[in-house]
Amino acid sequence: MTTKATAAIVREPQGKFTFETIELEELRSDEVLVRNEASGICHTDFVGQELMSLPGVFGHEGAGIVEAVGSGVSHIKSGDRVIVSYPSCGVCPGCLEGHPYFCDHHIALGFGGTRLDGSKTIKLGGKSISGAFFQQSSFATHSITAQRNLVPVKSNQAAEMLAAIPCGVQTGAGSILNTFKVSPRESLAVFGAGAVGLSAIMAGKLAGAYPLIAIDVVEERLNLALELGATHVLNAKHGDVATHLREIATGGVNYSLETSGNEQALNNAIACLSTGGECGMVIAPHFGQKYPFSPTEVFKRAANLRGIIQGSSVPKTFLPTLLKLNKQGRFPYERLITVYDFEDINQAVVDTKAGRAIKPVLKIS
Ligand SMILES: [Zn+2]
Ligand SMILES: [Zn+2]
Repeated sequence: MTTKATAAIVREPQGKFTFETIELEELRSDEVLVRNEASGICHTDFVGQELMSLPGVFGHEGAGIVEAVGSGVSHIKSGDRVIVSYPSCGVCPGCLEGHPYFCDHHIALGFGGTRLDGSKTIKLGGKSISGAFFQQSSFATHSITAQRNLVPVKSNQAAEMLAAIPCGVQTGAGSILNTFKVSPRESLAVFGAGAVGLSAIMAGKLAGAYPLIAIDVVEERLNLALELGATHVLNAKHGDVATHLREIATGGVNYSLETSGNEQALNNAIACLSTGGECGMVIAPHFGQKYPFSPTEVFKRAANLRGIIQGSSVPKTFLPTLLKLNKQGRFPYERLITVYDFEDINQAVVDTKAGRAIKPVLKIS
């Protein structure tokens, strides 16, 4: 049986969303139909429009109520409240060893516009279109997703609090707590004070990092970083960032996290490292393009430079941890959220691209 749903459709990269009726295909045995109560908006929703054929349905931070389950679904049932996090295949070596963030298929599952076998999940006007974005496409009243992407929550928290965390916030906090495993005797610099960067700052405070330095070009965001736990802030518009960082953290920082996608920020994130330090990047400058880059600073410092997917998080355990920390007042990510009605998605996008909204969340039902 197909399900009708209302989706925000985009027809050209960075074009306006229009609301249209779609048909969701029948559930496979391992799939679940979720009625979305809310969906976060993340920078990747804009990147995806350049990578997937259009028209398409984006959105990859869903939260809602399970309406139907496939015949092989065992640990989720209709009526359950769930967060929909990032997809993984479940059968590659990384997945089998318990590291879904090392899934061999994360790009195809995220940006393929189809299930992994190439089949499409959404029809518009009788024709199949790109969907299955991160195996969910949550800018819609309903999503098809795989059982293994779901995080059941008992929480009676507002849907926008659930939909704010399954990608960017998880990535920022996880990079510090899961990937780097920062300890109180270590220092940390976070480049970019958006949703990912500020989540990393909050996690850095939890981990006891000192100094804990935020770098951005927007003063209000640097002020917010100070309120959320940064011990120092630097405005990258003023002076040589790497030199200033080395003054604050004598000998350089143990860890740097680059969340801005800016080429100079990545260079600074490497140049500020101590010997043997580690730089993590959650976004690549000039994604998919070549650009001049010198590995000399990495080599000179015997440093590590690594890509980080989803903060090396296992969502089924890490997202409930973040909710618990939030309840305890130790991870106040509600400070980042701006809520929009679903019909105001175009305004939410404008505000996000202009930097006025840090973590926009759409209220869908
Ligand atoms: Zn896998
Ligand atoms: Zn994302």
